[in-house]
Amino acid sequence: MAERIPETLHKKLSDRLGFYEDLGIRLFYRDRGAVVAPESERRLEPPATVHFSTPELQKEGTLPKLAGKPALQKIAPLVVPVSPKISSLPVVAGPSLFESMDRIADDTLLKIREDLGECTRCKLHRARHKIVFGDGSPKAELVFVGEGPGADEDAQGLPFVGRAGKLLTQMIEAMGLQRKDVYICNVVKCRPPENRQPEEDEVSTCSPFLFRQIDAIAPKVIVCLGAVAAKTLLQTNRGISQFRGEWLEFRGRKLLATYHPAYLLRNPAAKSEVWKDLQKVMAVLGLEVKKGKSE
Ligand code: SF4
Repeated sequence: MAERIPETLHKKLSDRLGFYEDLGIRLFYRDRGAVVAPESERRLEPPATVHFSTPELQKEGTLPKLAGKPALQKIAPLVVPVSPKISSLPVVAGPSLFESMDRIADDTLLKIREDLGECTRCKLHRARHKIVFGDGSPKAELVFVGEGPGADEDAQGLPFVGRAGKLLTQMIEAMGLQRKDVYICNVVKCRPPENRQPEEDEVSTCSPFLFRQIDAIAPKVIVCLGAVAAKTLLQTNRGISQFRGEWLEFRGRKLLATYHPAYLLRNPAAKSEVWKDLQKVMAVLGLEVKKGKSE
């Protein structure tokens, strides 16, 4: 008779699979070469493995680059430990892994928002009032990525609507665009308490939704506002001052990191540096660069 999976393990597995499904990962395959420990040595997280993959892990040459060199160590395919009892379940025949990737390629912002739902995946949900998903054109050529919502954003459910947001709006208008022409979002969708920086586990839980947003919009240029956004997309621990204003890459798209508008409110002298960065973006987007506009 088939062995029953304990209820707690079943729930854990079900939650985990639900999370991957939200990320657009729906097909798994068992590594038949994986070494499975004898029954007596098996723990909850045994060495049996299930691999899954996403498009960016499959494409060659799409790793982020910094100053012409790989900025990071090569991203290893993710390996998810599962129970040996689960690994003994039959592998269900279905479409290939590559077909599931095509589905991710057809992603839409609406679908991503639906998948996010009333998210409680990380601890930031506890104090938030509204999820701040993102705002702007789903076909934007330019995407701005910030760190996380502040108090005003949390109250309104919209990104960059406080003081820093007003400054960002001015910067966008100085580029000859309007907010509705671009897309604005954050690494985490819920406000960190006391406006602290999002923690590593919060970033890693929420950022796959940001990656999907970027893939769905397929912008020409991504501008990271501040270190958290830059570090998340570039997977680097280097300080933003080391690569601010340089053209880098995120999944084959042009990426430029500059200072966060909140930093500019505290350090107005840095506005001219940011304007120089934005002028580079304007040149790539074919926008007219007006001389003398430095703030
Ligand atoms: S920050 Fe992201 S992962 Fe965390 S609860 Fe909010 S939406 Fe969910």
